[in-house]
Formats: sequence, C-alpha cells, structure tokens
Amino acid sequence: MIRVGVVGYGTIGKRVADAIAAQDDMKIVGVLKTKPDYGAMLALRRGFPVYTLPERVDEFRKAGVEPAGTIEDLIKASDVIVDASPEDVGRENKEKYYQKYGKPVIFQGGEEADVAEVSFNALANYEEARGRRYVRVVSCNTTGIIRALTALRLNGIGVRKARVFIVRRGADPKEFKRGPINDVVPNPVTVPSHHGPDVKTVLRDVDIVTVAVAVPVTIMHMHMAYFELDSPHSRDAVIEAIARTPRVYIAEAGRGLQSLAQIIELARDLGRARGDFPEIAVFGDSITVSGSELYMMYGVHQESIVVPENVDAVRAVLGALPKWASIEKTDRSLGLLAEGKRYGQLAPRP
Ligand code: NAD
Repeated sequence: MIRVGVVGYGTIGKRVADAIAAQDDMKIVGVLKTKPDYGAMLALRRGFPVYTLPERVDEFRKAGVEPAGTIEDLIKASDVIVDASPEDVGRENKEKYYQKYGKPVIFQGGEEADVAEVSFNALANYEEARGRRYVRVVSCNTTGIIRALTALRLNGIGVRKARVFIVRRGADPKEFKRGPINDVVPNPVTVPSHHGPDVKTVLRDVDIVTVAVAVPVTIMHMHMAYFELDSPHSRDAVIEAIARTPRVYIAEAGRGLQSLAQIIELARDLGRARGDFPEIAVFGDSITVSGSELYMMYGVHQESIVVPENVDAVRAVLGALPKWASIEKTDRSLGLLAEGKRYGQLAPRP
C-alpha cells in the first residue's frame, strides 16, 4: 500500500484524496487542513485523519477538532505527498517542510514549473517522473491541450503547429468573490498566454501559441484549437485517434451533447461524484479536417481534469506500475468512460 498525504483540501485536494482512497494500492494517511471548517468535518466523515499547520493546532482544538498531528507528522507518515495548496504556497511548503524530508512531492499547476524536476502528464511523459523527488502536475488548461495533442501523436498523427484559443471559466463554482460578472476579459491581455509555454514543459518540441479570455462561467473551460498536422490525414483517422485515447471523450450533438452545460449534465446523470468530468470533452461535430489543417473544440472540466493525473503521478514517481497499467487502473477505479479505449502503446497508423 502506498501511503499518501494530501496537503491542501480544497477544490483539487478533496477530489484527489477521494480518488486516492478509491485505489486498491493506495491509502490516505491524512489530509492537511488550515481551517477547522466544514471541510475538516467532511474529511473526518470520509475517514481521513486531519492534520494542520503547527500554528493552527490551538484554533482546531478550540473548534473541537483534535488534529492527528502537524504537517511534519503527516510527511513522516507518508510515502508520497500530494500538495494541493493554493498557487505559490506549494513552493513555500517545499522550502519550509518538504526539503527536510526525502519524500517525493507532487505539486499542482499553480506552481511555477521550476518548483519541480519534471512537469507531468500521464499520457505524455509518465516515465519521466520515475525516481524524481519533485513532480508538478500541469494545470487544467495545460492538461487539456496536452491530452488533445497526445491523442493525435500517440496514433501517429504528428502536429507541426498548435494554436489554441482558450475561453476560461471566470471562477470555480464555490468562488463567490471572483469574476467577471458581465465582461469578456483578455486573460492575460498579452499573447501568448502562459498556457503555451506551460505545454512545452511537457511536450518540449511543440510549436504552440495560446490566447485566452475569461468569461462569466463557472462550469468548464472551452478550447478552440487549430492544429497544423505533419501531413494530410482523413477526418476518420483523426476521430479514430481521439476515440481510442483514454481520458478523451467524443461528445456528439446528435446525442444531445453540444454544450458544456450538457457535458456537466452527462456527468451528473452518470452519477459521478460532484458532477465531475475528468475527460476532455471533444465536440465531435467540430472536428474538421482540410488537408493538414485540423480544427476542433473541446471542454475542460477544471475542477477534475487533473485528478487522474495526480493518481498516476503517485505511481509514476515510485515506479509502482508501468504507464498503461496505471492509467487503466486509475480510469477504471474512477469510472471514466473506457469503452473503445486502448490502454497500451498505440501502433502508429500506416
Ligand atoms: P483551493 O483554494 O480550492 O484549495 C486550496 C486549499 O489549501 C484551501 O483549502 C486552503 O485553505 C488550503 N491552504 C491554504 N494555505 C495552505 C498551506 N500553507 N498549506 C496547505 N494548505 C493550505 O485551491 P485549488 O483550486 O484546489 O488549487 C490548488 C492547486 O491546484 C493550485 O496550484 C491551482 O492552481 C491548481 N489547480 C486548480 C484548478 C482549479 O480549477 N481549481 C485546476 C487545476 C489545478
């Protein structure tokens, strides 16, 4: 059993903790909470011991929550830490705590790439994490782009150039103080947005430019992608590549799936916890191929897309399972849509 500690129990941390607990080769040692709020109560109800920062112990006790220990106790009890604390706090935790111990740490995409030795995406570079001490699972948008590109590449469809226009959700559903409320905001106003360079931390050779705006939506991001392929390919070949790649779902308008709201409704109807949709949802009808030009639109559920990546990163860093075995185990345990998916090195197309 791999003993995992989760530091930061917010949007990402609570989902990763549940996903880890669903693995038969992993166990949650505990989660670190900074406040004794309802999240601490929920963690305890889930059977996760709750740890806190040393300076917060009294606050927890006053609120009637006896912490299982401090962050250093959690690190000592764990084989691997998943740090899902807010942007830049992961780095602070690294300097303050993690560097003292030899344990591997998985950081999130809100950290700068240099917090870790390798930036990670399971489909693209699983093996590069093996034996590393610090690994960073790239952000939601970056994971989405890497999945789309890797679905093509794994199936022998090379991409010479990628240009991705990102419509970012303005906030997560719980973030009542963020916006915009009635605006479309270049986010950032400069080109390229940081997502393109971030993709290159994993796919180093890709020629990519990204442009992003934020809109008053909380459910998902939408990407409008233009890929220049290495040679002309048929639309059928592109669809086949996407259809057989794990963690990439083709949503068809004819089946009532032509908007992000409908994707989330599908997740809810599937009975997914929290209405999560960790796959990228490619709108099949948007897939348009003209010679070596490919256009497509896909949705990225920001709250859950990195969850399976974190589970795989834990196995990857320890060398616990080979790439495809881990990806398949994770997908099946989380109930991801696996029909027609190929869990194995995909043969390049003739
Ligand atoms: P969040 O604010 O929902 O959760 C972070 C949690 O960490 C909060 O509960 C907070 O109280 C706690 N925390 C604060 N200080 C801490 C500390 N010193 N040590 C440990 N925990 C501390 O944030 P989130 O959305 O879950 O984001 C976490 C990371 O995941 C960030 O790097 C973010 O960029 C990345 N990420 C977020 C999303 C998303 O859409 N929410 C998607 C992909 C990646």
